[in-house]
Amino acid sequence: MSHELLFAVQKHWASRLHYDFRLELGGVMKSWAVPKGPSLDPHDKRMAIEVDDHALAYADFEGEIPPDQYGAGRVLLWDRGSWCPIGNPRQDYARGHLAFELRGHKLQGRWALVRIKNPDGRRRAWLLIKQADEFARPAAEFSVVDAWPDSVKSLVEPVA
Ligand code: MN
Repeated sequence: MSHELLFAVQKHWASRLHYDFRLELGGVMKSWAVPKGPSLDPHDKRMAIEVDDHALAYADFEGEIPPDQYGAGRVLLWDRGSWCPIGNPRQDYARGHLAFELRGHKLQGRWALVRIKNPDGRRRAWLLIKQADEFARPAAEFSVVDAWPDSVKSLVEPVA
């Protein structure tokens, strides 16, 4: 039995605005905080700081994290869908180079997450990079975070 692996991006107004990029792997959502959000331009390498794994059920969350809790602030479900690893995702995660295809509503096509060396040795910093394909777009002509700032639900749920 197989199922599609979940993919989600949550826009999160915590102490600083960032985008939480999440990929289902090994029964949890592996998570990266991307301060600038994703870019469809393969020349942009977006810093993605690995953060704690989240439960699968959290991938759908939208709402307010109370002021006394970690990550306090508003969370909007910016994109969701499924992802398809290119290669062996557990091995590739461990070695710090994940290649995959996204099947979201805003993010699609081939992407990579590449771990970089950290001065502090904590190995939490990665780069999120769009790969060249038909879904890539030059940053000078299109910014996906600016073009579609709102909840993915506003794109996929018909207005009653
Ligand atoms: Mn966050």
